[in-house]
Amino acid sequence: MPDSRCGLCCAECGWKENCGCGGCIETNGKPFHGECPIAQCCQRKGLTHCGECDELPCKKLYAYSYLDPENGDNPPGARVKQCRRWAAESGKRVWKNVLLTDSGWGRSLEGGVYENILRKFHELLGKPAEEAKVLFIPTAATKEEAKIYAGKCFAELLIAGILPNHIYVYDIDGRMSAEQAMRFDVIYFTGGDTSFLLRRVKETGFDTMIKKMVYANKVYVGVSAGSLIATSHIGAGDQETAGLCLVNAYLSVHCDTEAQARTDLPLPHIPLRAGEALAVVWDGYEKIQG
Ligand code: SF4
Ligand code: SF4
Repeated sequence: MPDSRCGLCCAECGWKENCGCGGCIETNGKPFHGECPIAQCCQRKGLTHCGECDELPCKKLYAYSYLDPENGDNPPGARVKQCRRWAAESGKRVWKNVLLTDSGWGRSLEGGVYENILRKFHELLGKPAEEAKVLFIPTAATKEEAKIYAGKCFAELLIAGILPNHIYVYDIDGRMSAEQAMRFDVIYFTGGDTSFLLRRVKETGFDTMIKKMVYANKVYVGVSAGSLIATSHIGAGDQETAGLCLVNAYLSVHCDTEAQARTDLPLPHIPLRAGEALAVVWDGYEKIQG
């Protein structure tokens, strides 16, 4: 049962006693400190809480949840997670089709397939591959080597049974409408320059589109950089490096077999190696060994 708009747990909040806070739902978005922009935004949209919003988490909520050193969440993202839980409990917006891979399901440029990752892709697709339409985004592939690997990613889709004329190559330019994007079953990001990809996604407003697609249960496939932008942030932990927050964990890609998960970070750290992937759902993830 929601007791705030943003996912904060009012029952456990110190402000309730200390400041006589009436709670944001009860006070119509004006708790003890005045109007709250999150609560007001929710109400303007006619939502009970942010978990019903397909922008979750927007910039504002990200700042509250991840970036506020005094009143932010511990662990970071707890409010976002709670919002998703409320949405799931009320039968809304449970997404479950996100596949974050280290390097796709192809073994190498020479051929061969990581069967378990490919099987998971087919499972998430939930329809015959030859009927599926893929939005293929090689925007991160700015350098020659990355372009070669983007070609390999395209070939992997063909191996998966996607028809070539069902793959639309889109270098993010901000011109695709939500209506056009929603015609695709899959959104597939190749690897390359992670910072460039994230910047491009945000400056064109495509980040909102991606979230809408994920919330509509389109299949999100990330390869390398495409996987990293789905985490909560890719660098310093500020608004510029804020990721899509589809998984509340840190990922490292192309790790060697000796690589260990770091334990000094506020969120779990997952090193991915060639032939590994994460199948992510709204409240967690499962590691897949190819
Ligand atoms: S930050 Fe805003 S939305 Fe969240 S509990 Fe406080 S008043 Fe409510
Ligand atoms: S997540 Fe949605 S409803 Fe909540 S503050 Fe952001 S835009 Fe508004």
